[in-house]
Formats: sequence, structure tokens, C-alpha cells
Amino acid sequence: MGMSDDDEAIGAEVLTSHQRAARTYRKGRVCAEPGCQTVLSIYNPQDRCAAHELVVVDSGRRRSLPKAS
Ligand SMILES: [Zn+2]
Repeated sequence: MGMSDDDEAIGAEVLTSHQRAARTYRKGRVCAEPGCQTVLSIYNPQDRCAAHELVVVDSGRRRSLPKAS
């Protein structure tokens, strides 16, 4: 039983451990992707919008990409 294990699995949760009570983020943040001005929700733990978030996860965690086909 290790809490660090869970944090690693979730990833973004690690950043929220400080403000676990609220679980919200700065207002008015925009997607970190250059050229993208999508405003992120304060509940969005990511630095990017939903569209670009997928790209980050894909390139940042290429442990076991589902290459079934
Ligand atoms: Zn974006």
C-alpha cells in the first residue's frame, strides 16, 4: 500500500495535493498549446484543452500504447 503509487498513476493529481480541498485551478487559464486560446475550466487539471490534452498524454506516456490493430 503506497500513496505514492496512486499519485504516479494519476499524474495530474500530484499537482493538486496542495489544494485538495477545493480541487480547482486558476481562473482564465488558456491552453498551453501555441495558437490555441481555449479557456480551460478551473476544474481542469491539465495545462491544455481537451483536444490538445490527448496529444500530451500520447507523447508523454508512451509506455504501452494500444497497438492492437
Ligand atoms: Zn488547445
